[in-house]
Parts: sequence; C-alpha cells; structure tokens
Amino acid sequence: MTTSASTSAASDAGQSTKRVLLAAPRGYCAGVDRAVVSVERALELYGPPVYVRKEIVHNKHVVTTLEKRGAVFVEETDEVPEGATVVFSAHGVAPVVHDEAKALSLKTIDATCPLVTKVHREAVRFADGDYDILLIGHEGHEEVIGTSGEAPENITLVESPDDVANVEVRNPDKVVWLSQTTLSVDETMETVRRLREKFPALQDPPSDDICYATQNRQLAVKQMSPDCDLMLVVGSRNSSNSVRLVEVAIDHGAQDGHLVDYADEIDEAWLEGVRTVGVTSGASVPEILVRGVLDYLAERGYADVTAVRAAEESLIFSLPKELRKDLKSAGMDDKMKHDAASTEDAGQLH
Ligand code: SF4
Repeated sequence: MTTSASTSAASDAGQSTKRVLLAAPRGYCAGVDRAVVSVERALELYGPPVYVRKEIVHNKHVVTTLEKRGAVFVEETDEVPEGATVVFSAHGVAPVVHDEAKALSLKTIDATCPLVTKVHREAVRFADGDYDILLIGHEGHEEVIGTSGEAPENITLVESPDDVANVEVRNPDKVVWLSQTTLSVDETMETVRRLREKFPALQDPPSDDICYATQNRQLAVKQMSPDCDLMLVVGSRNSSNSVRLVEVAIDHGAQDGHLVDYADEIDEAWLEGVRTVGVTSGASVPEILVRGVLDYLAERGYADVTAVRAAEESLIFSLPKELRKDLKSAGMDDKMKHDAASTEDAGQLH
C-alpha cells in the first residue's frame, strides 16, 4: 500500500527550493497510545500518586508531562510502597516482576503492548515444546529482559548478524527464532539468513514479531531517504525504534541523519547546503514535537512540506482489563480516550 501526497501549494516550486518530506505514518503507535492513556486514566480514577515501573514509553517529553500530573516513575517494583497502584510499561515485564508486585500487595495495571505479549506467549509455547529459542534483540533493552524472563533456560540472545558465529544450541533440529518488536527489518532478516545457514531446520515465528508500527515507519523512511540530504528523526536516545529510523535512513540513501528530542537540539550546521530535509518520528513521540521541528525548519526557509505516505494505520487497542473494570465500577468511560492537555498530542498534521 504505497501512496505519495503533496500537502503544500508550494510543492511545484523550482528544484532549488528548500523543502521537507514528512513521513506518514510516524509517531504514536497503538501500543504507546494505550500505555500513555492507561497512566492518564489511572491518575483520573485513583488520583496521584500512580507509580509506573520504568518509563511508560521511551520518550522524555511524555515521561516529564505525566510526572507533572502525579505519575511517579520507579526503576524497580520494590520502590513502590506496599498496597499502592503500579503501571507496568508498554515494553512488558518478566513473570518475576508480577510475583514481586503480588508479594507487596500492589494493585497492578499491565500496560504491556499486546504485540509484546504475543511474543511472550510464543516464547512460553516454544519453551514448553523444549525448543531452543534464538531471540534477536538488544541486550539490556526492557522488552528483551521481559521476554527472556518467560523462558530463561531456553532463550539465547542474538544481537546482530555477526553474533551468529558464536550461537550454540542443544538440538539444531529444534530451533526457532523470535525477535524484539522494534528492530530494523533488514538487519533482522540478515541475522535470520545467517542463522538458517547454520541451522537449516530453524523455524520462523508464527507471525511477524517486528510490529506493524516499526515496519510502517521504516517503510516510509526507506521511500523518502534517497531524496533526502538530511533526515531528522524526532525521538529519544533510549527509543529503539527511533534509533533504528536514523540507521534505516542512512542505509537507504539519506546523506545525513540525526535523532532529536526537541527542535532546539537541531544544529544549524546540519542544514548547510541542504535542500531536502526528511522528517519523521518514533512510535513513542507525540505529534507536538514534530510540529516544533516543522516550525523550526519553516523559520529557516523549509516551509514547503510534502507528506510521503507508506501505509494507512487504524489499529486501536482497548485499555488493560483491570483498568477497564475499575473505570466501569466507578461509572467512568472505559474506552480509550486521550487527554490532550496531558500529552499535548494534538493529532496528526497531515
Ligand atoms: S512499537 Fe509496536 S510493539 Fe512497541 S508499543 Fe508500539 S505497537 Fe506495540
């Protein structure tokens, strides 16, 4: 599904005109939206403080905005006072974290993205079948820690194609690969290719583990990159899918690429001699931050904005069931509903 649409009257200006190519889709995915709304609704329902284990999503702006409203971010479950309410982040947690919360009598709201939960279930199922599971992902990332915790005895982490040479399994006839949801599609396929060379019986996951949002954002960047002198990706450094977008842009022909949390992190020197700037944002980034970057560019002559749409997205997840149940009992709306004042997510520009 590939279309391009011009959204600017100025787009037919001469070749020397400075312009912006704006990726679509970009920004919030269904899992991030659900996780952020879960914290907002929990604050409305229970009142502050609502504890959140780890950053609810990997975005500085979202975290600081929720903090101002009364969310308290902690690193570990034992930092939450006994009996308090804690939200688990979109990246998911290992079963041991649920046990810790139970031991402290915490009220838990699990905002793990359903697409991460799907990978957890796959891990459990293949471990039950005594498979060796080769999990492609980044060591130390919260999602990888959570998934590995489902079947630590069966899972081996494979970080990159170069890692494959060192991978060993118990039985090469019973091996499956799974992956983190936010990886580069191309690099992951290269890792799988090398794994399959080594273990010809390697099984694929039942369905794609790299999620639709990661794939679509990379697809848009791939389309735009050959035309871009510079790619600006709005996102935080600890956001895996945002970091991947910069790498994908460079791999597919963008001359230069940078990750910025806010417009004021853009270095004027990056724009020297640049005619076409590509702009996109990671799956945890509110649209207000992209708007800031577009305003910054418009002030410097890049007012001609053309949207490059690689896919349509309409997925919405319902809120975590424990939260829906409590909202319903309190006579409150239990549907997904964004509090724009909290995240300043003013929706899509185009
Ligand atoms: S990036 Fe994908 S897996 Fe992660 S929260 Fe969004 S939809 Fe879920």
